[in-house]
Amino acid sequence: MPATVISGKETAKTIRGELKEQVAALGKKYDGKAPGIATVLVGSRKDSQTYVRMKKKACADVGIHSFSKDLPETITQDELLEVVREFNADPSCHGILVQLPLPRHIDEETILEAISIEKDVDGFHPMNIGKLGMVGRDPLFICCTPKGCMELLERYDIPVEGKTAVVLGRSNIVGLPVAMLLKNANATVTICHSRTQNIEAVCKAADIIVAATGRAEMVKASWVKPGATIIDVGINSVDDADAPKGYRLVGDVAYDECAEVAGAITPVPGGVGPMTIAMLLQNTVEGAERTFAAEAAAAEALVAEVADGAADA
Ligand code: NDP
Repeated sequence: MPATVISGKETAKTIRGELKEQVAALGKKYDGKAPGIATVLVGSRKDSQTYVRMKKKACADVGIHSFSKDLPETITQDELLEVVREFNADPSCHGILVQLPLPRHIDEETILEAISIEKDVDGFHPMNIGKLGMVGRDPLFICCTPKGCMELLERYDIPVEGKTAVVLGRSNIVGLPVAMLLKNANATVTICHSRTQNIEAVCKAADIIVAATGRAEMVKASWVKPGATIIDVGINSVDDADAPKGYRLVGDVAYDECAEVAGAITPVPGGVGPMTIAMLLQNTVEGAERTFAAEAAAAEALVAEVADGAADA
């Protein structure tokens, strides 16, 4: 039986619809307030400009305000830190997104750590990632691509608890956090990387494979246990003379052959990719909701204190 196709495209569309309703409900509950996100773009890389444009459009579609700072390649690290600090202090901004990569003269880690953890909608702050790995700690935000992988498993009713999961890749932004999320969902997790021996046998034992290596079509059908679930995070372009652009996008999984063996599989494109932006929107709305609730509670406490004072006078 062919595998169930786990459509990130469809799921992301559903989530965006849910978020639009949630944003409207927040506006009603909190005097017309709306979530806001700041996008910070440094330099003129075409791919970064495209990503930022896509994110801003997706925000506008669900009712999230976006403010942008397009900064020159020559900006100094201190000037960029000042921009981040201004957004940290801006109450109308609930998320700060610094588009990566940054120019070489700027230390990415310093900039990402300067983002307030309450506005870290990308979920890259070491505090938020660190909490993911700890028992009994909840990060304020979970990085978008790993969160999107888990959302797909959940929405397609794929059981995780007690299952064996293999994550291919151990990067800070995908492999490591996705492994921690699977562990937190009570899977038994193995992380593979470029030095792993006998990776095929490790994969073959897994109920769930998450591939995030950036190696085109690395996972073959012979690596897959019949009925396993495959989440393919990879996005790789391979030359294809027959394709209109001369290339096509493929994942880290040889899709056609693996779909013959797997129980469920994400395609590339249209799998994890669309989920990443949907999770960014979801994080922003969650962050805004937390802020609005805290502001409302503070206002109520102030009214109560003033009323107490008036009664005592
Ligand atoms: P990185 O290059 O940072 O990490 C790749 C990881 O894969 C490393 O841990 C590396 O091991 C491991 N690896 C590389 N080659 C092999 C191999 N032959 N066997 C086993 N492990 C290997 O990549 P990212 O984590 O940033 O991204 C991974 C993929 O996901 C890329 O294709 C990227 O484009 C895609 N991506 C997709 C997103 C989406 O929205 N869908 C978002 C982010 C990324 P080692 O640590 O030993 O070097």
